Amino acid sequence: MLSWDQTSALAAMRCERAWVEIDLAALAHNVQQMKSLLAPQTQLMTVVKADAYGHGACTVAQTALQAGASWLGVATIPEGIELRQAGINAPILILGATNTPEQIRAIAQWNLQPTLCTPQQALIFSETLSSLNQNLPVHIKLDTGMSRLGTNWQEAADFVQLVYHCPNLEIASIYSHLATADSVDPTIMKEQHRRFEAAKNAIANRLNNTKLDNLGRQFPRLHLANTAAALTSRNLHYDMVRVGLATYGLYPATHLKQVVELKPVMQVKARVTQVKTITAGTGVSYGYQFIADQEMRLAVVGIGYADGIPRNLSNKMKVLIRGQQVPQVGAITMDQIMLDVSVIPDLQVGEVVTVLGKDGNFQIGADDWAETLGTISWEILCSFKHRLPRVAVGEGRRQKAEGRR
Ligand SMILES: *Cc1c(COP(=O)(O)O)cnc(C)c1O
Repeated sequence: MLSWDQTSALAAMRCERAWVEIDLAALAHNVQQMKSLLAPQTQLMTVVKADAYGHGACTVAQTALQAGASWLGVATIPEGIELRQAGINAPILILGATNTPEQIRAIAQWNLQPTLCTPQQALIFSETLSSLNQNLPVHIKLDTGMSRLGTNWQEAADFVQLVYHCPNLEIASIYSHLATADSVDPTIMKEQHRRFEAAKNAIANRLNNTKLDNLGRQFPRLHLANTAAALTSRNLHYDMVRVGLATYGLYPATHLKQVVELKPVMQVKARVTQVKTITAGTGVSYGYQFIADQEMRLAVVGIGYADGIPRNLSNKMKVLIRGQQVPQVGAITMDQIMLDVSVIPDLQVGEVVTVLGKDGNFQIGADDWAETLGTISWEILCSFKHRLPRVAVGEGRRQKAEGRR
């Protein structure tokens, strides 16, 4: 075991090289912005799967719950357990599939709430929970056109009726997921919405006809919207919206930018580790993908593709130093990158480089990288590895520290 001094020295050392800053004030702001779009009775689920899109699940969850979220969404059971172990009591929906009796016991033990996608799965859940003599709220997933998890929307009434008759299962919600909510063309989203409505009506009729609703049962909650749909229309909000991306300050599409003002939460920073002058004709990094065409000040920075900078950005990205844009040159290596810092001839070892984020008037966002790489900002956010410590900054952190006293 390391002593406390050694542990804190190690923590400080990990932040010497490169780190990720998480702005909790921006996070709280984004949650409040999304909440402001909702009707008073509509709940906000903050989606914190994949370690809160790389931001750190526990810190994000606590901040989001303080800022107005009332539900959390995760992809896996271990992600849910991590939140429970951090003392978080809010309801947690597991968006991914869970099937085995071991998984079901863990879900029950940790007070998590599963997604039910098929009748077979419902029967296994019911059987396992009966043997535990424990009831569990469950969430019915309908496939209205995403072709991912869920029972076909046309079989919704049969599925719901079956689950109502399964001992130890209580239907807490019925939901579906949209495939094209970020598209400028709403045609497919409208069709999915229509199918969700049709499923809702079919379920209501079935409950009525089978007198299931006479048992004092309330119609389950409904939810459909991700970030893009939450930004698009209140018609899509139902009883809850499941918001991931906007929490982290990014827009799913440019045409949705005018709806609310979001602030990026994540910044990626690293330090200059060496500065040198190279002569014209000198090759830089593996494969000499860059050759200096004139004398150049070159800086080496301690961050690379093993930290999550996509290697395909080699020679295509800029970073920020002292509020200026500086080009990255040569192949991105596992742990280090090189920069052409000729515009800052007196640059010193130890100075901070903003790899992603804001410095002065410039801002480099996950969107910018995504565009260069032909991918989406979700993937960029999730790409930063745990070698980079997550450092909380901003108002939210101070409020939280005070709240604890
Ligand atoms: C990831 C996920 C979300 C959140 O999506 P964003 O576009 O990031 O808001 C919502 N619902 C489900 C089922 C998901 O898997």
